[in-house]
Amino acid sequence: MNVTLQNLTKRFPARGKKGEDVVAVNAANIEIKDGELLGLLGPSGCGKSTVLNLICGLLAPSEGQILFGEDDVTELPPERRGIGLVFQNYALYPHLTVLQNILFPLENLKGEAKLTKEEMRERATRIAALVQIDGLMDRRPSELSGGQQQRVAIARALVKMPRVLLLDEPLSNLDARLRLQTREEIRRIQQETGITTIFVTHDQEEAMSISDRIVVMKSGVIQQIGQPQAIYDDPCNLFVAKFLGTPPINVFRGEVRENCLYIGEAAVLHLKDTPDRAVYVGIRPEGFVPDEAGALVCRQKGVEIMGRDVSVVATHEALEAPALRAIVSSDQKLSRKAEAVAFSLKPHKVFLFDRESEERVPFAVKEG
Ligand code: ADP
Ligand code: MG
Repeated sequence: MNVTLQNLTKRFPARGKKGEDVVAVNAANIEIKDGELLGLLGPSGCGKSTVLNLICGLLAPSEGQILFGEDDVTELPPERRGIGLVFQNYALYPHLTVLQNILFPLENLKGEAKLTKEEMRERATRIAALVQIDGLMDRRPSELSGGQQQRVAIARALVKMPRVLLLDEPLSNLDARLRLQTREEIRRIQQETGITTIFVTHDQEEAMSISDRIVVMKSGVIQQIGQPQAIYDDPCNLFVAKFLGTPPINVFRGEVRENCLYIGEAAVLHLKDTPDRAVYVGIRPEGFVPDEAGALVCRQKGVEIMGRDVSVVATHEALEAPALRAIVSSDQKLSRKAEAVAFSLKPHKVFLFDRESEERVPFAVKEG
C-alpha cells in the first residue's frame, strides 16, 4: 500500500494567552512506497509521533491530506484505516495470556471481517510463529522479557493484517543487545510480510541500519528524504550532516578565499570556480589522512587502537567541538607520543555549509 502525505500540518493551540501555537508538523510531503520500510528520524520533540498519530487517525490534521493508495483517508476514523500500531511501552493486557493478547484485536471484528474461533486461532498461531513467540503462548506479559513483550505487541499489531504498520520508538525500552537483535527481527518480519512500514526513532544508527529510506525531521520540518547512505554521503545542511554518523562529523569554522579552502591559516583544499564566503567545514571521521606534508595540523590528544581501525583524537582552534575524532586505517604509522598530527583530506568526505544559513555550499576541487 502506497501512503502519501500531502502538505500535512498539525498545529497545537497555545496554552495561555501569550503563548504561540506549536507547529508540530509543518507542511510535510512524503510518498511511502508499497512494501517500503521508511525510517522517520529526528531529535525528541521534532514531530515524529505527531506524524504517526495523524497517519493512524488518533489526531486530525490542521491542513493537508493522507492517502492510502488512491483513497483519501484523512477523514476516516482510526479503526477503519487498517493500521497496526506498536509503541515504546508494549501496552499488553497484563491479565491476558500471550495468545489472548494476540487474539484480542480479532475478537472485536464485526460484519464481513468476523472470523470463526478456528480461523482466529490459526491466524494467531501463524503470526506468533512469524515473530517467534509460539512457545510462549500460555504465559502472561509479566512472565516475559522486554524483547518478548515487544514481539507480542508486534504480533498483536500484525494479526489484523494491517495495510500499514506504524512503529513508534519500539526498541527504546530494550537493553543494547536486545535492541540490536529486535531491530533485525523487525526488518525480517517486515520483509517477509511486505507490509508498508513507518519506523520512528531518534537513534540515527537504528534508522540507518533498518530503513529503505529515511526522513530526517527538525522542529516539525522535513530536512531531507533519501536512502541512508545517500543522505550520509550528501547531506543537504549542517543539521543533517551532524545528525547522521558515529563518530559524528567534525565541524570547523573555515573560509573560501580566492579558490582556496582555509581552516585557520592553513590552505586545506585547492578549489576552482568556488565563490568566497565564510563556511562551516564538515569532515567525516574517515575523511582525514595522516600525512606529514598535510596542511591541517592539529594537536594530538590520543590514539586509540580499535583493531582494524585507529581513532585519532585531536584539537584545533577552529573546531566547533572540544575535540575531533579521525578514523584511520591501522596500517598508518602513527606515533602515540607525538604532540602534533598533520592531515590531508579526502575531498568527497568534506562538506561546506554557509556560516549563516547552514545550507550546503557546493564546491569543486582543482585537479592535480
Ligand atoms: P517526537 O515524537 O518527535 O518526540 P512529538 O510529535 O511528540 O515529537 O511532538 C512534537 C511537538 O508537538 C513537541 O513540541 C510537543 O511538545 C508538541 N505536542 C505534541 N503533542 C501535543 C499536544 N497534544 N498538545 C500540545 N503540544 C503537543
Ligand atoms: Mg515521540
